[in-house]
Amino acid sequence: MKTLHEQLLRRRAENLYRERLVLDSPQGAEVVVDGQRLLAFCSNDYLGLAGDARVVSALAEGARRWGAGSGASHLVSGHLRPHHALEEELAAFVGTERALLFSTGYMANLGVVAALADRHGVLYEDKLNHASLIDAARLTRARVIRYPHADVVQLETMLADASRPAPLILTDAVFSMDGDLAPLGSLMKLATRHGARLLADDAHGLGVLGENGRGSFEQGGVPLAPPAILMGTLGKAFGTFGAFVAGEADLIETLIQRARTYIYTTALPPAVAEATRTSLKIVQEEPWRRTHLHALVARFRHGARASGFSLAESTTPIQPLILGSADAALAASRRLRDAGILVPAIRPPTVPEGSARLRITFSAAHTEAQVDRLLETLATLKPQP
Ligand SMILES: *Cc1c(COP(=O)(O)O)cnc(C)c1O
Repeated sequence: MKTLHEQLLRRRAENLYRERLVLDSPQGAEVVVDGQRLLAFCSNDYLGLAGDARVVSALAEGARRWGAGSGASHLVSGHLRPHHALEEELAAFVGTERALLFSTGYMANLGVVAALADRHGVLYEDKLNHASLIDAARLTRARVIRYPHADVVQLETMLADASRPAPLILTDAVFSMDGDLAPLGSLMKLATRHGARLLADDAHGLGVLGENGRGSFEQGGVPLAPPAILMGTLGKAFGTFGAFVAGEADLIETLIQRARTYIYTTALPPAVAEATRTSLKIVQEEPWRRTHLHALVARFRHGARASGFSLAESTTPIQPLILGSADAALAASRRLRDAGILVPAIRPPTVPEGSARLRITFSAAHTEAQVDRLLETLATLKPQP
């Protein structure tokens, strides 16, 4: 058995060592790192709301009115009026009977999956699902079947062979490292036909996709109704923190009874709920943020293609440039950094072996000129043959 130190050295030698940057500024189009101002294309703050003055004031006001912390779990005495109001507003926004707040998206996925499946159950997972859905499946000790990415034909065959009752299909709605969309319409049909439920994790679609920002279901024209269950996060396009699950009343009541990551943890600070209520209003009242964001994405794709980069099948603000080896991705990220641009290299095990990449993300806080600067800098890197 190698010591921890030896394992760390090995990881470093393989260019897989992970390190944190320390930001000396709020999140935004530009951030300060090591005294250097960098143009950043890496946050999930898609609508530029993390630093929005109105959201920040709502947080400060919320803290003054409701205190710094919730002081207990939701079921004990930590469920305050702001949490309750936010749940009602989120349900109305996405169009479900109810919504339930969780402290993080990671915990929401763990909670829902473990509440709905046990070791006698069966789960179907897209191979490229987010780590939180993968861990959720492990926690249940149910039988886990991973289907090839977005492959509904294969999934149908697997479902037809299923010997266990009440299957659950788990998918990212927007894949977090590739930016492509799950075939939600087909997955819904399959789920309905096979008596399965479909948990769609719309961490990257909510607020961003669909005319009204209701996310991947709205974008795909798929009604959000059983058997679908929506998981949405609040730390990305909403610019704050937390997550929610939306669905029919019986689902939400079941989660309140059974979801351990809901029951055994402190409710998020009520001020965060107040800030999120303000974000939710902005998401609905300022559609220009989505329009601008999608225009930036189109501008980037056009320019990157003109420079000879091969792009992924993504129309979302997640635009990976797949470079292959961890070394290549790290080198490209370093060269961008030297030019004052921050784009992280994403390496295995976050993405499959041989598909290390630059994960470029856009925000409504960016300007066209900033996207052009990224394109000009990328053009100086050697494009893939
Ligand atoms: C970020 C993310 C999560 C986790 O959400 P947090 O609120 O950050 O814990 C879950 N699923 C996907 C697809 C994500 O990208």
